[in-house]
Amino acid sequence: MKDCYLGVDIGSISTKGVIIDDENNIIVSDYIWTEGSPTKAATKLVSILKDRLPENCVIKGIGTTGSARKLVGLLLDANIVKNEITAHAVGTLTFYPDVRTILEIGGQDSKIIILENGIITNYAMNTLCAAGTGAFLSSQAKRLGIEINDFGTYALKSKNPTKIAARCTVFAESDLVHKAQVGYLKEDIIAGLCKSVVLNYLNNVAKGKKIKTPIIFQGGVSKNKGVVKYFREVLNEDVIVDENGHLMGAIGIAVLARKNKIGKTYSLNVKNIKFETKARECLGCSNNCELLKVYKNNELIDSFGSKCGKF
Ligand code: SF4
Repeated sequence: MKDCYLGVDIGSISTKGVIIDDENNIIVSDYIWTEGSPTKAATKLVSILKDRLPENCVIKGIGTTGSARKLVGLLLDANIVKNEITAHAVGTLTFYPDVRTILEIGGQDSKIIILENGIITNYAMNTLCAAGTGAFLSSQAKRLGIEINDFGTYALKSKNPTKIAARCTVFAESDLVHKAQVGYLKEDIIAGLCKSVVLNYLNNVAKGKKIKTPIIFQGGVSKNKGVVKYFREVLNEDVIVDENGHLMGAIGIAVLARKNKIGKTYSLNVKNIKFETKARECLGCSNNCELLKVYKNNELIDSFGSKCGKF
């Protein structure tokens, strides 16, 4: 039998999962849309991966990362739960041990991680502004009437990218509508959007950070060839894009699950788990904390949100 490890990265837009072996080979992987329910998405994704897992594989560790990592960690009984910065750095270092800069743009947030000798020395994360993220690009693609997967191809056709004000979604949308109305070519508008995503990222998330090579670009938006092109052009450096870049957080947390295994074997039978969360306000003091109680098969297993640690 082969020991394997599951890593799940639960974001607000998509949920990614991988199962790796002791040599970091990816045995199975997939991603699905989170659709507002991280526990449902994680349950569905784990069931998909389980069905595809070869019979000789046995799960010896589970790790969770991403915005809903704690909740899904409880659902899956994970042996490790870590933030996205750590998971992305570990995943990337597994395949690129010399990496110095990780640029990441996901569905609804973006981050930069600076490393030296395999150690994180600086990072920044933008979770507040949607401008320049995957969700932003998807909504603009819809507005222009094209598939998001064709965005990069359109951008590469452009000879004269249109200037788009993308420092904020509201400005970008009105600018884009205006440019489309006055007759700019679709490919030029799309190339302009891709370029503005890069400039927005470098002027905000990466502000003040020393970007050193090797540079790796990952997250869902790294699949967009237009954005990749402008990162290379603006930085005037090679920017590596791994075909599994969108899975790097899940890979990283799977690696950590392996390193922190506790001698347990997991069945991945998650379909029948009854998992519920109940919210209530605590009136114990003027903080009025929003408490979230987590029940697994009707048993209270954890609660979040208490400022005093009472719950
Ligand atoms: S959980 Fe603690 S801090 Fe929060 S309202 Fe209740 S008593 Fe106050």
